[in-house]
Amino acid sequence: MLIRSLLLGFIVLGLAINTARAAGTPRPDDPMLDPWTGPYGGVPPFDHVKVEQFKPALLAAMAENLKEIDAIANDPGAPTFDNTIVALERSGRALQRVSTVYGVWSGNLNGPEFAKVEAEMEPLLAAHSDRITQNSKLYARIQAVYDSPAKSSLTPEQQRLVWVYWKNFIFQGARLGTADKTKLAAINQQLAGLYTKFRANQLSDEETYTLTIDDDASLAGLPKSQIDAAAAEAERRGAKGKWMIANTRSSMEPFLTYASNRALREKGFRMWMSRGDNHDAHDNNGIIPQILALRTQKAKLLGYPTYAQWKLADTMAKTPEAALALVMKVWEPAVAQVHRDVADMQAIADREGGGFKIEPWDYRYYSEKMRKQKYDLDMNEVKPYLQLEKVREAMFWMAGQLYGLTFTPVTDVPVFHPDVRVFEVKDTSGAHVGLWYFDPYARAGKRSGAWMNAYRAQEAFDAPVATIVSNNANFIKPAPGEPVLISWDDATTMFHEFGHALHGLNSHVKYVSLSGTNVARDFVEFPSQVHEHFLSTPEVLNRFLVNAQGERMPADLVTKIRNASTFNAGFSTVETLASTIVDLRIHMVGDKPIDPRAFEKATLAEIGMPHEIVMRHRLPHFGHIFSGESYAAGYYSYLWAEVLDQDAFEAFKETGNAYDPATAKRFHDDIMSVGNTVDPAIAFHDFRGREPSVDALLRDHGFPVPKP
Ligand SMILES: [Zn+2]
Repeated sequence: MLIRSLLLGFIVLGLAINTARAAGTPRPDDPMLDPWTGPYGGVPPFDHVKVEQFKPALLAAMAENLKEIDAIANDPGAPTFDNTIVALERSGRALQRVSTVYGVWSGNLNGPEFAKVEAEMEPLLAAHSDRITQNSKLYARIQAVYDSPAKSSLTPEQQRLVWVYWKNFIFQGARLGTADKTKLAAINQQLAGLYTKFRANQLSDEETYTLTIDDDASLAGLPKSQIDAAAAEAERRGAKGKWMIANTRSSMEPFLTYASNRALREKGFRMWMSRGDNHDAHDNNGIIPQILALRTQKAKLLGYPTYAQWKLADTMAKTPEAALALVMKVWEPAVAQVHRDVADMQAIADREGGGFKIEPWDYRYYSEKMRKQKYDLDMNEVKPYLQLEKVREAMFWMAGQLYGLTFTPVTDVPVFHPDVRVFEVKDTSGAHVGLWYFDPYARAGKRSGAWMNAYRAQEAFDAPVATIVSNNANFIKPAPGEPVLISWDDATTMFHEFGHALHGLNSHVKYVSLSGTNVARDFVEFPSQVHEHFLSTPEVLNRFLVNAQGERMPADLVTKIRNASTFNAGFSTVETLASTIVDLRIHMVGDKPIDPRAFEKATLAEIGMPHEIVMRHRLPHFGHIFSGESYAAGYYSYLWAEVLDQDAFEAFKETGNAYDPATAKRFHDDIMSVGNTVDPAIAFHDFRGREPSVDALLRDHGFPVPKP
């Protein structure tokens, strides 16, 4: 995961430094607003933060930003790249600085006091962003620069920057007349209400329905930890002495994996798959057509025939047809793999004398049996060899091999919590590259999961500015002197988030809006995911994955991990791609009214969905696409980025050395350093010498690769 900024709009509209303070603006005396001071070109003033200061600081910064915007919009001079686009790049710097600290408090140190500030400020910040994109004088100037013949004499990076501003304004409806702007705002309002309702219905079905078990014979197969959790759930719901399985993914998936009572599995599965689809007050099937109709209206207002076309216009894929074509290349081999896996599972079921065909509620149960039979891998055996600090050292070593970066701990900068450590990053010549903040431990008020964010993005147009990035995780803090042991998945996530950090640190562009991770939505996970592959390179395994006694991971364990890496890839690919395909297709329909149940059924039948698998997210509970905008017609981004990362890593493997210097240099020059200065499709082509191919992913997942 990656947090670009809580205020994405501001990054797009120009984060910016060195703001001339708008004359006459009363401004609270607050280091959060002022240019950062201290070493390394200034660092965030984490030691001078008071929660009550956020509101006045944000209000002052927004006011200052609006003055800057007005000055640009009302400039008496004819619009030029310098007085419009570069001026926008310089604007909003105080707001960006405050927002950075505000974002850290929101993600890492949240609490009741801060939550109150957040609830009050979020709508104001959203409205602020709208006021800028709806400034018609400002938009007219951007359009004039975009249309000007002088544009052709700008550098390619400058031309791309003009395009990015122009596109962002068009996308938000800047081109519309007053009446249409009002219409668009009304559509967005209605959509926001429907998203909230959709989410509430889904949550209600997850909370209301449970699978109750009253006899302990029916618990057969479940591990003790699950039985204990089910007993606690029953007690929480006032049914002490019974067991309850909650209607959520985290409870239902393990239940379906281990419960040997087939009738109960079926009951639980049907309940879980019916979230939002129970023909009752919380049924989402009535909301979906309303959302789709409003989205089509919105796309049409903005000049696109369908919502999918609008949504994908500024991505690497560019059109829904291109995204769908790539998805289908993986779909068919994945389905073929599922048919083979089902045959294996059917053989196990037949040997047990069940006398039934594998159904969706049997899939996880029999695939778990298959896993034990085929791979004999217990992931708990791996953990002792994954010490958090060793994994961090491995990441640093990888960054040194690939990009010549070194990391040295520093203590001369303020941190927002004593557990946060800061490292200075230098290049091979010893020159300063940036800072990396590491906040590894869980605490009250910290959001869950792991993420990267940029406190300051690299730029070089007025003066060189070095980047400051951070990685954040939620490991349990150990007793002093004890190592933190993490899972293989967690170690993979560490490499992933560090990949985002490296994307920021390697940035070498002029303009901040095009810097580092400010790239297309279906491209941003590519640099992070590539770096996941380096965890399992022999160099990392042998040098860094050692237990507390300094012993390496046994060779047979390494082999087991390798062999098991393709386990169940057919199932996970098919269930995810089914949701991906339905998401794209439903947003490509346009005006025709849609009955979600019928649409889902017909689409799955058409693409040959295996009978034994159900979509990962069925439409009535597909919150990614119906409880907000970000993944609507965008769920394909997961697969898209994976195709790119597998294909790119294969370029390293083809040399026989995962750290091949020449390949690493090309990857740096074509992908890691260019930010959004190059169209992502061209950047990938520059690196690989051709269009992305799905073959590497198919090979990695153990699927058959079609002959060319
Ligand atoms: Zn990510």
